[in-house]
Amino acid sequence: MRVLALDNFITGSAQNLSSLQGNPDFEFRQADVNHGVFIGGNVRYVLHFASPASPPQYDANPIHTLKVGTIGTMNMLGLARAKSATFLLASTSEVYGDPLIHPQPESYWGNVNPIGPRGCYDEAKRCAEAYAMAYQRTHQVDTRIIRIFNTHGPRMQISDGRAIPNFMAQAIRGEPLTVYGDGSQTRSICYISDLVRGVLAALERGDELPVNLGNPEEVSVLELAKAIIRLAGSSSRIEHRELPVDDPKQRRPDITHAREFLGWQPVVGLEDGLRQTLAYFRSVL
Ligand code: UDP
Repeated sequence: MRVLALDNFITGSAQNLSSLQGNPDFEFRQADVNHGVFIGGNVRYVLHFASPASPPQYDANPIHTLKVGTIGTMNMLGLARAKSATFLLASTSEVYGDPLIHPQPESYWGNVNPIGPRGCYDEAKRCAEAYAMAYQRTHQVDTRIIRIFNTHGPRMQISDGRAIPNFMAQAIRGEPLTVYGDGSQTRSICYISDLVRGVLAALERGDELPVNLGNPEEVSVLELAKAIIRLAGSSSRIEHRELPVDDPKQRRPDITHAREFLGWQPVVGLEDGLRQTLAYFRSVL
């Protein structure tokens, strides 16, 4: 199978593609899906992952984030429709907002503040899901929606701004780890190799209904910071900073649906995953 990748590099980098250079089955085009993309020949799958996904990055690009979730999604669904391709939307646990139900099953509608700083991302992804369902119902496009929970792995940007890249860079440099608030808020952390298997399972065996993909192993942000200090063998201390507005207090996927329907579940434990991402950050810092 040949792969054509599109990226405008608003958060990605050409360097991340260097291992694919010269691969005859891989082609890259610098393009913005918000402007429409024209592709000759057949297309089997359209995987729509375009969007900033880190809170500081979507906060810095709110209009672009809204556009790529709405107009970009519409353009990619139009492409899938024209090519009779299967379309996969990378949605997010942020559709649940600051959840009032824990853990979060796909049937939960969420608790999102549309006008807060996270609204540009959360509402764009909610709109993207509505687009996918509308194209499936109206034009019978073969669609998938995956709701991705916190994931990490090699080739994340050092300046990404999310907890794991921040904490790892800080621990390696011997700087204080910046824990926002008291660190009692929780996240459930998935390693990238598990997520990729889940994406492929959803593509092959999924249907149009959303499916959570994430690791249900839940930790507080303070525990996460301490684990990274320990695994890095660092002498960094922890420094508390102000908690961002609307920061979700808890997050854990209910993955019953993915287990039963896709036969998928994560296999990489929290510490094993953290060790691998840490090794990557060490290699680039
Ligand atoms: N966080 C933190 N310090 C940082 C970056 C993030 O304490 O330097 C916290 C953040 O407030 C949130 C959690 O870590 O409670 C996860 O944040 P991240 O930005 O990784 O993703 P989110 O799950 O909020 O989208």
